[in-house]
Order: sequence, then structure tokens, then C-alpha cells
Amino acid sequence: MFDVLVQWWWLAVDAFSTHAVGPALAFLHLGNAIGEPEDIADALLTAALQIAIIACVFRPLEFFAPAENWQDRKLTRVDWRSTLALMLGVSPLFAFLVLSPFAQAFSHAAAWAGLPDEGLLHYFPHIEAHPYLAFGLYYAANDLAYYWMHRAQHAIPWWWALHSMHHSQRQVNCWGNARVSWLDVVIESCLLATVGLVMGVNAGQFAVLVMLAELVQNLAHTNTRIGFGKVVDRLIITPRFHRLHHMLVDPSRPGLHDCNYGQVLAIWDNLFGTALYNEPPRPNGVGDPTVDADNGRGVLAMQWYTLRRFWGAFTSRAGWKPQEATFDTNYRPVPLVRSGGAH
Ligand SMILES: [Zn+2]
Ligand SMILES: [Zn+2]
Repeated sequence: MFDVLVQWWWLAVDAFSTHAVGPALAFLHLGNAIGEPEDIADALLTAALQIAIIACVFRPLEFFAPAENWQDRKLTRVDWRSTLALMLGVSPLFAFLVLSPFAQAFSHAAAWAGLPDEGLLHYFPHIEAHPYLAFGLYYAANDLAYYWMHRAQHAIPWWWALHSMHHSQRQVNCWGNARVSWLDVVIESCLLATVGLVMGVNAGQFAVLVMLAELVQNLAHTNTRIGFGKVVDRLIITPRFHRLHHMLVDPSRPGLHDCNYGQVLAIWDNLFGTALYNEPPRPNGVGDPTVDADNGRGVLAMQWYTLRRFWGAFTSRAGWKPQEATFDTNYRPVPLVRSGGAH
């Protein structure tokens, strides 16, 4: 069954590559400058499949079993447009223009340093006989790296300047995973790709890993009350769990929002003491008006103003000191002092 699906997939990629991508590249006189037609067709069809899953499975959940009832979905429109821009434009372009050369440079450097081709998995005896176990190990390492990276995104003001765009959403929804700074996508991808390369994951496995992780995140942002039971809640990120990560700061419990950083596995939050369960849904967003202003912007303006606050933080001393920060009207970071509670 799985083999038949894979066969169909490659037939579709082949047809799309021959009849659409190839002629389009020839028309634009691009040749193979941004990658092989077959690779581009594969990336675009993968993105289209992901968008179809969100539209046909996750979006209906928001209609039939919402966690929050909204008067309208006005604030989600920019997230839908951001999804199209990110998945059909920015991500595939970035993969060909930045990530592939980055991976190549890394493997040259690794060969020069005398590291084994298989990465760290070289040191696990007989691992090549257990491909699923190897993939599980990649996944766990990638997810652990994501957890700590995400904590840094909240703790370091210049990184928060970028990540705060994701948290500006007041209506956390099935398209909301794509409300991210494109510069942050570059930083995140290079860091996570490095973990993959050190582990010895190959490009095909990395693509599957990223797509599975993104689907879990798309579901995690879905405005739905569906649950998967207590056991699954402790293992995998669910919509309820990630929704609490997006909560507005509660002044009466100021440290409460410092929770639920995981990407796919909930075990890291449980292990490192940042897991929060059993809270009712809360209002989402950020208290900082400079960041909240993102809600009145379109896809490109949101990116531009995020870059402005990033630059304001990156070029100031306070932007490098781990602390909770807001941004002033000149997009400079202002350390946040909370009265009456530990962060
Ligand atoms: Zn976050
Ligand atoms: Zn989120």
C-alpha cells in the first residue's frame, strides 16, 4: 500500500515537472539556476499537499469543534496569505538558494575534518539495519534542539524581536504556524539542519522530518477543542497544549505564560519543568503594543516591521542580555520589570 502511494507520488512529480515546472523555467530563462525541475516539482507538490491537509482536515475542525468562538476571522486572513507566501515561495526558494549550498559546504567541512559520512550514527553499532530506529533518533535530536532554540527565542531580546511576530496573533488558527519572520526561518533552518547533518540525516529524510513536524505544528495552532487523552497529551504537542504557549501574560500569575515550548514531542517540557496542563483556554497575543500592531498589517509590512525591531535590538546592548523585553516606538528593546512575581 505504502509502495503504491510512493509510486503515484513520483508519477505526479514527474508529470508536474515535465508539463509545468520545466516549461516555466525555460520561459523565464532560468535553466537549472534555482534547482532541478524534478526537485522543484517535488517541493511544490509537498507544499500543496500540506496546504490541502490543513484546508480539508484542520480547518473543518475549527468550524465543527472550536476551542474559542470568534465573531469573525478577520485577523486570520494575513495568516492564510502568509502560509501561501511561505510554503509556495519563500521556503522552496530558500531551500534551493541557501539550505542546499549550506549542506554541501557542511559536508565538505566534515570530510576535511575527517568526520564519518553517516554523522554521529556511525558510532551506533548496526544502526543501518534499523532505519526506523535511526529516523526516531534523528527526530528526537531535532526536537530537543528545537525546544532549546525556542526557549532562546523567548529569552534573547533580538531573537524575541523576530519570534514575537508569531506571538502577535490574537486568533491562533490553523494557518497561524506560518506567521513567522522569514529571517527567523533562515536562522532556525540553518541551526536545525546543522543538527541533522551532525546526526547524519540525508536530504530526503530531512524533508520528510520537516513536513511531519510542520503538520503537527499546523494542527497545534488549530482553534479546536479536540483532545487525544491524557497519555498522548504527555507525549505529543496538541492544540490545547500549544494554545497555552500563546497566552497573553496574566498579571496576577506573571510566570504562567513561560510554558509549553515543544515542537512535536511534549516530553522535553515535562522533563525540563515547563509543561503546563489543565488550564482553560485563555486570550492569546502579546501585551506589547509595538508587537500587537502587527495585527493591522499585511504580509510584507509585518515582515518589514519585524525586521525593524530586530535591528533595534540587534544593535543595542540590551538586545543581547537574556531578559524579557518589550519594544519602544523606535523599535529599541526595553527590559520588562514585573512587580509581584518571578518570571
Ligand atoms: Zn514561542
Ligand atoms: Zn505557535
